[in-house]
Amino acid sequence: MELSDNAQRVLEKRYLKIKDNGEKETPEELFKRVANNIAQVESDVYKHDEERVDLVAKDFFDIMNNQYFMPNSPTLMNAGKNLQQLAACFVLPIEDSMESIFETIKNAALIHKSGGGTGFSFSELRPKNDIVSTTGGVASGPVSFMKVFNSATEAVKQGGTRRGANMGILRVDHPDILDFITCKRDNEEINNFNISVGITNEFMEAVKQDTDYSLVNPNTNEVTNKLRARDVFDKIVEMAWSNGEPGIVFIDRINEQNPTPKVGQIQSTNPCGEQPLLSYEACNLGSVNLSKMVTQKGGVNYQLLKETVRKAVHFLDNVIDANNYPLKKIEEMSKNNRKIGLGVMGYGDMLYKLGVPYNSQKALDLAEQIMSFIDRESKEKSRELVKERGAFPNFKNSVYEKRGESPIRNATTTTIAPTGTISIISGTSSGIEPLFALAFTRNVLNEDKLVEVNPIFREATITHGCYSTELMEKVADSGGIQNIDEIPGQIKEVFVTSHDIAPEWHLKMQAAFQKYTDNAVSKTVNLPNDATLEDVYQIYNTAYDLNCKGVTVYRDGSRESQVLQTNKPK
Ligand code: ADP
Repeated sequence: MELSDNAQRVLEKRYLKIKDNGEKETPEELFKRVANNIAQVESDVYKHDEERVDLVAKDFFDIMNNQYFMPNSPTLMNAGKNLQQLAACFVLPIEDSMESIFETIKNAALIHKSGGGTGFSFSELRPKNDIVSTTGGVASGPVSFMKVFNSATEAVKQGGTRRGANMGILRVDHPDILDFITCKRDNEEINNFNISVGITNEFMEAVKQDTDYSLVNPNTNEVTNKLRARDVFDKIVEMAWSNGEPGIVFIDRINEQNPTPKVGQIQSTNPCGEQPLLSYEACNLGSVNLSKMVTQKGGVNYQLLKETVRKAVHFLDNVIDANNYPLKKIEEMSKNNRKIGLGVMGYGDMLYKLGVPYNSQKALDLAEQIMSFIDRESKEKSRELVKERGAFPNFKNSVYEKRGESPIRNATTTTIAPTGTISIISGTSSGIEPLFALAFTRNVLNEDKLVEVNPIFREATITHGCYSTELMEKVADSGGIQNIDEIPGQIKEVFVTSHDIAPEWHLKMQAAFQKYTDNAVSKTVNLPNDATLEDVYQIYNTAYDLNCKGVTVYRDGSRESQVLQTNKPK
């Protein structure tokens, strides 16, 4: 197995376990530890048939060791260790009481300590200045409680392996919505949160018709005020333009696709937005490395993709049972729905290998082809698992049953995660993002500057006879190649980077993948620094029209730091 320097560094720092003899495990030993641990679940299914367990463990090891597939970080870090907390995504409830608020703060802290990320909806909290009957005082409102959550996260951060990450969602019809939209402006007190406005269909309709909409007090169900939808939308757009937040999630749309509406409504997603969940639900994710799914002849290796998807679904389903949940309630919810989120990484690299520009119809068509294939195969495998293990317990009354479909093991099978760290470990581009830079300079202590070049780009320049160290240094200076004369047009066309790609292509790509993804798609729509408010407005509107489940924009240079950086140069 070949690992990049960067991958080696990341693994060394946080993933490789210290063995009993005091030595650090090798990456291969890490994958063995994880594969063996997750395969142990077979032992129950196959009545302690150890040979069977070994075969499954070998399959799991192979897909990781070949870098065809990688589970989310908590699984890599914690499987086969004391902690054994394997899921990346959690959603916890916040009801309108002190007990509920502080109970959830405690539970979130436990989850952060174990490497998971948490999402919450603050929509049920009564608005600021509302009366508190038991004390006769006034309520502090959602934004002030977010600060308490934030401080707790900050404190836990000191001890954990990952800094905690939160998603905070407020429905657009909550009376405190304007405070929420601006709550991160010049404010470090909410720095451990990503925030998103929960946008309803009614609100989007009101934006389109330019009418007012109602704000409703969740405590009393009374309409407290009416606002012009476009004014609120403009405020969201203005804030997002100035610092990338709030993002928006189309909460009604998410619920229209809730596989188990009888079990509960979905009010929030995990921190990066790709995983909508019911309260107390957890989900483990994993991603297929598409850059490894290319044939020698330059086509998509569907045979390998199929095998990888099938093994990955088996793996992720096992993780649900191998997992040590931080709370009994979370264990019950997660085991009753058995959601898993298989997605992809390395799509940007794959397109480079195939010679297809990211900003082309061909790339969109390919995205649909690949994701529909993955979605279909994942469901087929999930249905196969039913034979020996049964359907997810909430299958009855689920939308699958309503549609007359055959039983399935997992309430959802597909999610596209940001793959912030696992893409580094796999040496490929993150999620479905285009490459951020083709070359960049790394300053190494006591050494000359080191120029790191995307290997696929390097090869292409060698093939075209234009490779030179000077040229690579020049590329590293700007990251992109569109203005460099020495580079042939053919290469320029294929090797586009985030900034060369117009925002609408980013969005169309997100929509293409979303079409065949059960859960949501993590994607940042990159905008140039000179993008206007109108540009952001159009993107938010188009995201709705293209059936996305949410959208996040980032205008170049608008923000110094963010909770999770997913597509900065690695
Ligand atoms: P990775 O590549 O490390 O597996 P991703 O970047 O794909 O992780 O993120 C997937 C999910 O993992 C996020 O949406 C979030 O729920 C969780 N997550 C990511 N980073 C953190 C973090 N620092 N702390 C807590 N949870 C995190």
